[in-house]
Amino acid sequence: METVTDYFGCLVFDDKVMKKYLPSDVYGILKKTIDEGASLDISVANAVAGAMKDWAISNGATHYTHWFQPLTGVTAEKHDSFIAPTADGKIIMEFSGKELIKGEPDASSFPSGGIRATFEARGYTAWDPTSFAFIKDNTLCIPTAFCAYTGEALDKKTPLLRSMQALNKQALRILRLFGNTKAKCVRPSVGPEQEYFLIDKEQYKKRKDLIFCGRTLFGSSSAKGQELDDHYFGVIKPRVAAFMADLNKELWKLGILAKTEHNEVAPSQHELAPIYTTTNIATDHNQLTMEIMQKVADRHGLVCLLHEKPFEGVNGSGKHNNWSIATDDGVNLLSPGETPYENAQFLLFLCAVIKAVDDYQDLLRISVATAGNDHRLGANEAPPAIVSMFLGEELDGILDAIENDKPYSGAEKTVMRLGVHVLPKFPKDTTDRNRTSPFAFTGNKFEFRMLGSANSIACANIMINTAVAESLKIYADRLENVENFEEALHAMIKKTITDHRRIIFNGNGYDEHWVKEAEARGLLNYKTTADCMPHLLDEKNVALFASHKVFSLVELESRCDIMLENYCKTVLIEAKTMTDMVNRQIIPAVEKFTGDVAAMALTKASFCGAPCKYENTVVAALSKDVDALCENAVKLASLTDKASEFGNIRDKSAYIRDEILPQMEEVRKYADEAEKYTAKEYWPFPTYDDLLFY
Ligand code: ADP
Ligand code: MG
Repeated sequence: METVTDYFGCLVFDDKVMKKYLPSDVYGILKKTIDEGASLDISVANAVAGAMKDWAISNGATHYTHWFQPLTGVTAEKHDSFIAPTADGKIIMEFSGKELIKGEPDASSFPSGGIRATFEARGYTAWDPTSFAFIKDNTLCIPTAFCAYTGEALDKKTPLLRSMQALNKQALRILRLFGNTKAKCVRPSVGPEQEYFLIDKEQYKKRKDLIFCGRTLFGSSSAKGQELDDHYFGVIKPRVAAFMADLNKELWKLGILAKTEHNEVAPSQHELAPIYTTTNIATDHNQLTMEIMQKVADRHGLVCLLHEKPFEGVNGSGKHNNWSIATDDGVNLLSPGETPYENAQFLLFLCAVIKAVDDYQDLLRISVATAGNDHRLGANEAPPAIVSMFLGEELDGILDAIENDKPYSGAEKTVMRLGVHVLPKFPKDTTDRNRTSPFAFTGNKFEFRMLGSANSIACANIMINTAVAESLKIYADRLENVENFEEALHAMIKKTITDHRRIIFNGNGYDEHWVKEAEARGLLNYKTTADCMPHLLDEKNVALFASHKVFSLVELESRCDIMLENYCKTVLIEAKTMTDMVNRQIIPAVEKFTGDVAAMALTKASFCGAPCKYENTVVAALSKDVDALCENAVKLASLTDKASEFGNIRDKSAYIRDEILPQMEEVRKYADEAEKYTAKEYWPFPTYDDLLFY
């Protein structure tokens, strides 16, 4: 039998394959490009392309594509076959270095937020050699960045790579100050835990809201929800287990390190976590994982829902972004060390993250802002929309001791001097008890928990990388020119703790008191995408991205527009779907049932003079619901029509937040009420019971 070790990575043009297929000098140059970003000339590119093609063809590929991540949030690909005609009427299979390095998709239909007027339609894709090419659906996929001819990024990969570079540059400056001359580069890594729902495909097909919006717009709660906690880590059902086995196999073939799988809190909800890798590759892999989850589910007669809030009343799905930074020789800079010097360095990196999260709370919130995720944040199932950090009691105690020059109670009761004393050991376990924190230190990494399940993790990591690079830059600027390094270091760490203590919160993030306390502390609380997104263009943020060459002003403006456009479009599609379902499915069904009940009352009354209490109650209740439903659906439709009158996207998104979303809730209220009285066989689509407990 074929074992996992046999087929792991068999569809990836990885290091092993490169070694086998490339002449050793070409391999050496390519490796240097991958590891150190050295440039690569066309003759080398030609050799690499030839090897990739031979390998791909021998694995059944007929096409190639530049695989990229436009701002739609999903991946894009345009397939070209390798075939080229020959003079004798036959074909040969061709793939050149030029085709490997650069592609020109017809870019006019990808969102650009006004960067590239549609008539120009000029964008190009550029090979990212740091992420391995792979085969999917008989097509050689080459991970690429996507840019306008004027140089602006039109994708998520380009700024992510830029942010990794910025972080690398500043982190190396700090390491040199600590006497580290060995490390050649510093890379951020991430392990994203991915949540999702699986539902039956036949049921799914019967619901327009799931098909058009990815979430249910109606549905009264089942008698049973998640209250018994019997699903979390529960036994995996055979049908789901078969899906997971198939999914793992597909992912492993693509070299994706799928590791952990389990049932989640809500019924029909599950999670998959890979082993962490660099933010660039992890992002590519997470995009692939989401795509393959949906494909594999389809093969099993299931549908994989990645929406952040597919069902009301049970938990939605998120993604935990486990982030750390390490040197190329494998030293995790967020891991407390053994010596006083290592500890001081750890504390400095820790402080850099604390400062970054506090200074750029808004960017972290923005990075997870979508219409879908707005339903989830702060709904007692996910962190609130307020960004705060959890460090755990021990670490907090240490920071407190440093800040106030007082002995740390856990250690030998000495006043902590950085560079002199060893940090007291704190057990890793105790750092990971607070599941409600948006940004938690978990022993040797930070877990950013606000991401929605459908989000690309690129945005969150761009923000974290850049914000931390900025803290490190400020530290390095200061420390590079001081006479007494240790003194200055101590003072700076102390100052960071004092200045940014407000962002640290070890309590329950779901507690309503926290909202008030956070406000008193001056922390931001942007409840919706419409609220937070415009702040992407705040002066301090523009300056940050410009200084680290991650985004230009034009790029930021375009992204802000695209995200708001996306928000508006998403909600408007939902509103229209809702109106349609009410008018053409729900009201007719309820009317039919009411009519039948009323007819029964007439029959019974004339037959034996029965008082017909049941019929009277039901007909009265449903008539009221139907009238209210009709009235509110009409109102929703007219509000939806009015949305097209807005020229300015910010005004439009505010309108959608203030008028459309609340009206949608009104409509839903009456529909869900009607569902409770209407006989099941009359209800026009599967209910929550059918969907969640299949
Ligand atoms: P859990 O959060 O369920 O307790 P872990 O924290 O061990 O599980 O792991 C969750 C994710 O964090 C996994 O994807 C794992 O690979 C990743 N992870 C573990 N260590 C690191 C690290 N140093 N840097 C980044 N991610 C990490
Ligand atoms: Mg975790």
